[in-house]
Amino acid sequence: MAIYFDNAATTKPSAAAVAAFTEALSLYGNPSSPHALGAEARRRLESARATLASLVGCKTEEFYFTASGTESDNSAIYGLWELRKRYGKRVILTDSEHPAVKEPCRRLEAQGAEVVYLPTRGGVIDTEFLKEAIKTPTALVCVMLANNETGAVYDIKAVRDIINAANSRALLHCDAVQGFMKAEGYKQALRQADSAAFSAHKLHGLRGVGGLMLKSNLHPPAFVVGGGQEKGMRSGTENLAAAVAFAAAATEYGKGAIEKVKEIRAYTEEKLRALDNIGFNVPPKHLEGILNISLRGIKSETALNCLSAQGIYISASSACSSKQAENTVLAAYGLEKADRECALRIGISPLNTKEEADALVAALEGARQRYGRI
Ligand code: PLP
Repeated sequence: MAIYFDNAATTKPSAAAVAAFTEALSLYGNPSSPHALGAEARRRLESARATLASLVGCKTEEFYFTASGTESDNSAIYGLWELRKRYGKRVILTDSEHPAVKEPCRRLEAQGAEVVYLPTRGGVIDTEFLKEAIKTPTALVCVMLANNETGAVYDIKAVRDIINAANSRALLHCDAVQGFMKAEGYKQALRQADSAAFSAHKLHGLRGVGGLMLKSNLHPPAFVVGGGQEKGMRSGTENLAAAVAFAAAATEYGKGAIEKVKEIRAYTEEKLRALDNIGFNVPPKHLEGILNISLRGIKSETALNCLSAQGIYISASSACSSKQAENTVLAAYGLEKADRECALRIGISPLNTKEEADALVAALEGARQRYGRI
């Protein structure tokens, strides 16, 4: 039996999501078709949208379905830039954003954007830096709700207050892929954002469906154009079954998942604290589901492979940055090279058990004793 502690990379689809998906497959009409089968598909799609919008805390018409968190980030960034580039060429983003945010921002440089990285040392936004940076006319500020490697929860309200205090016209995009339904007070935080990105597969939905929240007063040019679906914001025939499963998974997650994750996190952390020579890369405000440690004495990859051979799955860094030579997020966090080289990310879900946590901790210590060299 697999022991899966890589839930920040992706999660196992929940029974509720699979049931909703399977059931919705029978609604094969195109939601844009005017006949009865199309109308029924449309009704189900709008019901999923209303459910997700209410969980996000936005108006139903402000929630758009996309194909991934990455697409949502890209759409928001390119779109908001177009709306504000006349007012300022600066784009401010944290130095620990996911590549889904970093890469589109870097592309904007070709259009004259001046990209500025906001420090997040220790998992906390440098507000003094932001107060200075925002004095230069700025088009866009991107701050993620929760970091995918350290679990740091950033203060979106503080960012909004700084933008407002500077009388800046900058728009605020928030990557909420990791934080949605998980970060404490996430609804209040998201209310401060002009746009936000979501992804179903991080909370036991399916891959290939995401969400974009866009404030109703904003009308940026669409990123994906074509048949005009999603009110023209995202063309392409909607993935109804996956959208319905997204709503089912998020609803299910809202029914006590956080409490279960918190319990397993506390148990795992307590067991790990009994080990020698271990660092805890835990920001002051963090997601319960992400526990980043430095298991000193064994390289991350070696530990990861050793555990993998035993059917225990964790991650050395985020799945998306595992091809990068250097872990820039942990460097931004302020972790020394030696501790970065032995960093491991444990991603906890409500499906994990204390027995699994025991097996994980024993396997980690076993790997270090067997293969530890550094
Ligand atoms: N943003 C963050 C913070 C993430 O962790 C991820 C996925 O790892 C993404 C964006 C991309 O989401 P998706 O895999 O749905 O494209």
